[in-house]
Amino acid sequence: MPNQKKTKIVATLGPATSDKETLKAMILAGVDVFRINFSHANYDDVRERVEMIRALSEELGLYTAILADLQGPKLRVGVMSGEVVVSPGDTITFRTGKPFEGNAEEVYMNYESFPQDVKPGERVLLDDGKLIFEIESTDKKEKVVAKVVQGGPLKSKKGVNLPNTNISLPALTEKDVKDAIFACSLKVDWMALSFVRHSEDLMDLQKLIEEHAEHKIPIIAKIEKPEAVENIDKIVAYCDGLMVARGDLGVEVPAQEVPLIQKRLVIRAKKARIPVIIATQMMETMITSLTPTRAEVNDVANSVMDGADAVMLSGETSVGNYPVQVIEKMTSILKSVEGSELIKVPHDPPQIRTVRYITKSVCYHAALMANEIGAKAISTLTNSGYTAFQISAWRPSAHILVFTSNKAILSQLNLLWGVKAFYYDRFVSTDETIEDVNAIACKKGFLDVGDMLISLAAMPIKDKGMVNTLRVTEIESCPV
Ligand code: PGA
Ligand code: MN
Repeated sequence: MPNQKKTKIVATLGPATSDKETLKAMILAGVDVFRINFSHANYDDVRERVEMIRALSEELGLYTAILADLQGPKLRVGVMSGEVVVSPGDTITFRTGKPFEGNAEEVYMNYESFPQDVKPGERVLLDDGKLIFEIESTDKKEKVVAKVVQGGPLKSKKGVNLPNTNISLPALTEKDVKDAIFACSLKVDWMALSFVRHSEDLMDLQKLIEEHAEHKIPIIAKIEKPEAVENIDKIVAYCDGLMVARGDLGVEVPAQEVPLIQKRLVIRAKKARIPVIIATQMMETMITSLTPTRAEVNDVANSVMDGADAVMLSGETSVGNYPVQVIEKMTSILKSVEGSELIKVPHDPPQIRTVRYITKSVCYHAALMANEIGAKAISTLTNSGYTAFQISAWRPSAHILVFTSNKAILSQLNLLWGVKAFYYDRFVSTDETIEDVNAIACKKGFLDVGDMLISLAAMPIKDKGMVNTLRVTEIESCPV
């Protein structure tokens, strides 16, 4: 039976994952979601890769999800002419306008309103925070003079972070709009938006998706700006998932603050019952080595302990030497910790008189009961996928088997902790449907004779309404 782990793995596509054989081996080793990073994507490549993944899903009978990750207002310097090294005390001018080749005196910046937005005294961080500058003056038109605080090699096209500056750029750049429309045409399962600052940023993307996609595409807010951490309650209300984007977050806020922010964000997501992905440098050493560091193994394991739904790989799979082995290693770490009783997720029961209270309550009690009676699986019939989000958030020890006739959500649900989705379209009577669904779960290897199973359904079954019924079955016979 293919991977029975519950914590999901998100793997970023790139040159190291361009052929079908590698993608197949990665899926079999435990990849649940492939991420397209639009910061570095070529449309023809992306289209080809998406077709390969969809073909593999058919072939393997699995539903690997595809996440389109939009670059957002990412700031960068231009191309440099030759080797430039800057030292503390030097001054350098950042110039906007027409791109040019930079040198030790002047560097191009791809951010038009930079001179208007910055103020003297603010910091400019370059190349993952390796270089630090402090603004001395701005002409408010096209030139900003800055002093080097921490020096080093200044390389072409490196990312720029401005943790103290109120950046006036829109959340969706022209490139993002184009990329999002393209992603809609590919019918991706999830979209992520980088550098989210306010809930309005998410509303803009949602509107764009509504205009261009056939089905709803849920949105992941990447938390990598201090403003996003401050506005988290409003952001959570307007997205369908969170990503703790530790790469940029660790530059925008002091790196030592990231561990507690990670824990708070996971708790926040679990209270909202939306999935949360932990990203960046989880298995960084495995870009070039077959052995992760002990610290990396601990980081992956501790993210599961925090309550993460998914852990993400970036360079490890996009440009790394061992895209399959890193998945195998990660899977083994996840499997060894995810069953632990030490994992604590918030357990405030759903509140009475909220929307869909009945469904929420049935899902909550199904998860509690599954643990109490040692049920192997909780099955649910759903059209929107709503119950899958609800059950998953309670982290039951049982597998969450989702049956749906809505093809659009099959791969989407693959990001959720513990969830496996199956296509099912015979909605006859509750009794028959539940028998049918149990038989499928047996065939797929999730149930055996003597196992307990909790089945959720909406009665009457034909109406495909809200889940309102919980049934417990002990499996008497298992078709093979
Ligand atoms: P990125 O996002 O890889 O798109 O920058 C993740 C992060 O910043 O951690
Ligand atoms: Mn980022």
